Amino acid sequence: MLIVMNHNAGKKQINAVIKVILRMGYEGIPIPGGVRTAIGVLGNKGYVDDSIIQGLPGVQEVLHVSKPYKLVSRDFHPEPTIVKVCGLEIGEGRRPVVIAGPCAVESEEQIIKTARAVKKAGADMLRGGAFKPRTGPHTFQGLKEEGLRLLALASAETGLPIVTEVMSPDTVGLVAESADLLQVGARNMQNFDLLKELGSIRKPVLLKRGMCATIEEFLAAAEYILAGGNTEVILCERGIRTYETATRNTLDLSVVPLIREMSHLPIMVDPSHATGKRSLVPPMAKAALVCGAHGVLIEVHPEPEKAMSDGAQSLSLPGFSALMEEINSLVKFLGY
Ligand code: PEP
Ligand code: MN
Repeated sequence: MLIVMNHNAGKKQINAVIKVILRMGYEGIPIPGGVRTAIGVLGNKGYVDDSIIQGLPGVQEVLHVSKPYKLVSRDFHPEPTIVKVCGLEIGEGRRPVVIAGPCAVESEEQIIKTARAVKKAGADMLRGGAFKPRTGPHTFQGLKEEGLRLLALASAETGLPIVTEVMSPDTVGLVAESADLLQVGARNMQNFDLLKELGSIRKPVLLKRGMCATIEEFLAAAEYILAGGNTEVILCERGIRTYETATRNTLDLSVVPLIREMSHLPIMVDPSHATGKRSLVPPMAKAALVCGAHGVLIEVHPEPEKAMSDGAQSLSLPGFSALMEEINSLVKFLGY
C-alpha cells in the first residue's frame, strides 16, 4: 500500500501517519518526491483496511497494491478451480455446461415436464426457484419448501442435478438438502451473513453478480465464501444496470475473459436475466460461449405466456431444444 500525502503536508503529519501504520503492525517508509511525500507500507501479507489512514490530516490518497479478493485471485492461486456438481466438472478446459429450467417452480406438472424436455434436449442441470427474491411483495414469492420437494422429484425422475436459489442464512441447511448447486441471486450478492454461511458448508455455490456491482465487489463477495473454507464457487454474470432501458439489463460480456484472467474460479453467463427478452437469449448465450464462459444458464418454461415470473425472457421447450442444437455445434467448433 502506498499513501500519497498532500503537497503541503509537513513532517508532523507524515510522522503521525507513520505512527498509525506502526500501531497497525506494519512499517511506514517515507518516500520524498519533488512536490510531495509518499509513504510506503511494508510488512502486510494481504489487503490492508485503510479506513483510519484515509481520514488522517495531510493524507491525499491511498493506493492499494494487494486486492481485497486474495483467495479468488490468480495471483494467489494460478491453477484453475474445477467445480464438481454431482460428478459434472465445470471450469477451464471442460465442456461448457448448460443449466436450464423455469424462473420459478410453479407445479409438479410444470417442473416435471420442463425437466424431461431440457434433459432430452441435452441440458446438464435443472434450475428452478423455490424461494424467489421478487422486487415487489405482491408478486409470486415461490413455493418454498414445496418447491424444493418438487425439484427433488424432478431430479429423481431425470437424473439432472438441481440448481436453486437460497436467500437467507437460516435456510441454507434446508435448501442444501435438495440443491446440488446453491444459487445466490443478484439481489443477495452482498448479503454477507448468507455468504459467510455458504462458506461453512461443503456444497458448490453459484454466485451471481449484483446488478450494480463492480468486478472488485463481485470478487470480494466470492472471497467471503472462500474465506469460510468453501472453495467450490462458480461466478455468474447476469447483466448490470445501466442507463439503457431497451433491455432488462446490460450484458457485460467483457467480464468473462477479464474474470478468467483475474480469478481461478469458473465463470458462467445468464443471458435470460441479462436481456429480459426471449429473442435475445440464443444469440447472447452463443456469444457468451464464444468469449469463454464455462457455461450458460437459460430460463425455459413449457408455457412462457402463462409463467408466474419472467415469461418474457423464457424460452419455450422447442425454442430451448433448437438452441441446444446450435450450442452443440458451437461447442464442437470450439474444440470440446
Ligand atoms: C433467477 O435466477 O431467477 C434470478 C432471480 O436471477 P438474478 O438474481 O440474476 O436476478
Ligand atoms: Mn427469473
